Amino acid sequence: MPPDPAGLEFTADEMRRMGHATVERLVEHVLSLETQPVRGDVDAADLCCRLREPAPERGVAYEPLLDRLLDEWVPRSFTTSGPGYLAYIPGGGLYPAGLADLIAGVVNRYTGVRLAAPALVQLESNALDWLRDWMAFPAGTRGLFTTGGSMAHFNAVLCARERHLGADIRAGVLYGSTQMHHSLGKSARLAGIMPDRVRAVPVDEQFRMDVDALADMIATDRRAGLRPFCVASAAGTTNTGAVDPLDAVADLCDREGLWHHVDGAYGAFFHLCPELRDLMPGLSRADSLTLDPHKGLFLPYGTGALLVRDGAVLRGAHEATAGYLPARTDDEYDPHVYGPELSRGFPGLRVWLCVKLYGAGRFRAALAEKRALAVEAAARVAAVPGIVMAAPPQVSLFAFHLRWPGSSPAEENEATELLVERVNLRKRVMLSGAVVEGRFLARVCVLSFRTRARHVEACVTDLAEEAADILATASA
Ligand SMILES: *Cc1c(COP(=O)(O)O)cnc(C)c1O
Repeated sequence: MPPDPAGLEFTADEMRRMGHATVERLVEHVLSLETQPVRGDVDAADLCCRLREPAPERGVAYEPLLDRLLDEWVPRSFTTSGPGYLAYIPGGGLYPAGLADLIAGVVNRYTGVRLAAPALVQLESNALDWLRDWMAFPAGTRGLFTTGGSMAHFNAVLCARERHLGADIRAGVLYGSTQMHHSLGKSARLAGIMPDRVRAVPVDEQFRMDVDALADMIATDRRAGLRPFCVASAAGTTNTGAVDPLDAVADLCDREGLWHHVDGAYGAFFHLCPELRDLMPGLSRADSLTLDPHKGLFLPYGTGALLVRDGAVLRGAHEATAGYLPARTDDEYDPHVYGPELSRGFPGLRVWLCVKLYGAGRFRAALAEKRALAVEAAARVAAVPGIVMAAPPQVSLFAFHLRWPGSSPAEENEATELLVERVNLRKRVMLSGAVVEGRFLARVCVLSFRTRARHVEACVTDLAEEAADILATASA
């Protein structure tokens, strides 16, 4: 117990000891990622029960808490930062981003208002400009770091609503494909657009938005006196990795006077690679674009980003004044003017520090490698007897299912689910599936920066062996 019970400062030696212990444990953790099971035991109801406790009146020592975190609780999870994580949309976990969080937390400067930390806000502004340049957005673009893609979507729908509907929001209609991420529906609701004003546009055989159907739906809604205002298309869907026809949607939005939002939470960072830009033509024409640096830039969870082509719209959606805030005289980037939050963390530091440390070239190389690994894996998985490729990789994600002579769709769904479960039980890679138009599809998404050729090799081997085993039983 420190001599002064109200004193919250640790001594210099204690701070050093805690810091060193933390770094030691974290480096050990990173080095062991390769051998950690890719999916820890998440059947943890008992553990969670035991963890419940009232706030302690007296504090305890640091190291034992650190040990329990890293030895007992962290392992009871999906190893999302490990190399075998090919499920959902993988995240990252670059080590320097963790250091950025440590720095941001300890210096704890106020980056909500430019005046309070102008140089730090400038670094964040630089990082947003880098995203703008990578996505080939114009100079008037403004951006915002958010906690993730969902909150970026929310701010995008808000911009679209403010720009096109003003105060009359009830008649506004938003469109996305049947494969649209559910966070867009949530964002619409948060922005006051109710579910009965959100339309699901059919998709083609590659799960891309059918633009003719979209045009028909817009016409129908107009005839009914409603006010179409926003189309949300995807630069890579979560279910199958589909890239909507962004150029055609942009043309339609131009003709119809609608806001075009592109959900690039999964796929947009592939735009960094010049040779991959043709995978998503039209992306740079969007009115707004969601990016998820905690996916495609390999940062830890908690970093999303939004770009808005007409920065004045983003500002208009959020600018407000108060007697205790400084008067603004310029157009410099100022986080509270361009976003909904006032006090906030310093999300830009993670991005800024990592880009400075690695340089864009290494991100480009990593993204190109993930794409190449996915394309190669898909070719080999497609050649496995009994596997049907439902969605070849448009970016770095592919989806497939099992089929054998005489099988019914229900049997195929069951067998494909079993395939995913059996591969996961081998604990070398973790896959997930998705129900798409009534069919269960297994998916492989290569986006973790730690995934290299040997992990994809393990994935293909495990899939081929388990598929053969399941089919032997199924057709017996
Ligand atoms: C992950 C994802 C989202 C949601 O982003 P969060 O960062 O999880 O909030 C939206 N759309 C797509 C395509 C995604 O992959």
